[in-house]
Amino acid sequence: CGIVGYIGPREAYPIVIKGLERLEYRGYDSAGVVLYNDGETQLCKTKGKVADLKEKANSEGITKGKIGLGHTRWATHGVPNDVNAHPHYSNSGNLVIIHNGIIENYGSIKKALEKRGYTFQSDTDTEVLVNLIEDIKQNENVKLGKAVQIALNQVIGAYAIAVFDKTKPDEIVTAKLGSPLAIGVGEDEFFIASDASPFIEFTNNAIYLEDEQMAIVRLGRDVKIRQIKDDKPV
Ligand code: GLU
Repeated sequence: CGIVGYIGPREAYPIVIKGLERLEYRGYDSAGVVLYNDGETQLCKTKGKVADLKEKANSEGITKGKIGLGHTRWATHGVPNDVNAHPHYSNSGNLVIIHNGIIENYGSIKKALEKRGYTFQSDTDTEVLVNLIEDIKQNENVKLGKAVQIALNQVIGAYAIAVFDKTKPDEIVTAKLGSPLAIGVGEDEFFIASDASPFIEFTNNAIYLEDEQMAIVRLGRDVKIRQIKDDKPV
């Protein structure tokens, strides 16, 4: 399983696909990508190999955008199929997430969200997490980074995640506990990946997040790193 993300001036799709290919050694059963272009996100995902994803994305014309997230999934909750493949949208369609790892207490969180009117397309623990983030963001009226931090404090499990909000398309929020996560820092561009192999030809500047750290990468800014358990404003 692996994750890759890009935000910057280049076309994201080739970077994300090549990155996923370099992470294939980690093992997976499904693959997916989301791209942000012209105010909208487009998602393509499939059971199978990155080669299958490429074929589907090309035939559906989902290859454009300067922001992209890609994922290879090793199913833990929900069988390997197209719907359970990542990325996953929140109910509003604004947030989108990729996740490696397991949210162990997803069942109780899912029940609470269902009571509040949330519905779920997939059987994954991951779709629960993105909706928890959305619920917190809306109810507590906080920024994405803060909502991710609050959500992760309610979660038991392991994760490397990246979250994107199409209503604030200059940033990606990422966090890690138990699964690896590297951030490549270029000149006003950022890469996110399970290891540095997806971005070695673009930058030598890699930050490896430690467990219980999160980072906000925003165009035009430095990477902001925070402790998930900290109270410091995100
Ligand atoms: N637990 C998540 C799922 O089953 C992520 C699995 C992974 O690490 O790829 O969808």
